[in-house]
Amino acid sequence: MSRPAASGEGCELVVVNCSECSREADARFTIAEQWAWWSDGFGALLPFCPECARREFEDRITLAHAAHKDHSEHRAA
Ligand SMILES: [Zn+2]
Repeated sequence: MSRPAASGEGCELVVVNCSECSREADARFTIAEQWAWWSDGFGALLPFCPECARREFEDRITLAHAAHKDHSEHRAA
């Protein structure tokens, strides 16, 4: 088998681990499986499996919705 050096397109298998329970998943399925990607505040996104996401973020998500401080100041430059 030869691997083309220059055209790394499409066949990258990325495995993600839940930040909470270390559950493994193919990154391609995290959307369908409703994984949550949560910003760690430093520009990185941490994956959370659906169960952990619900447990961890239910409060925060609810709060985020409650504190909907989107002022929507639409200004065309
Ligand atoms: Zn988990």
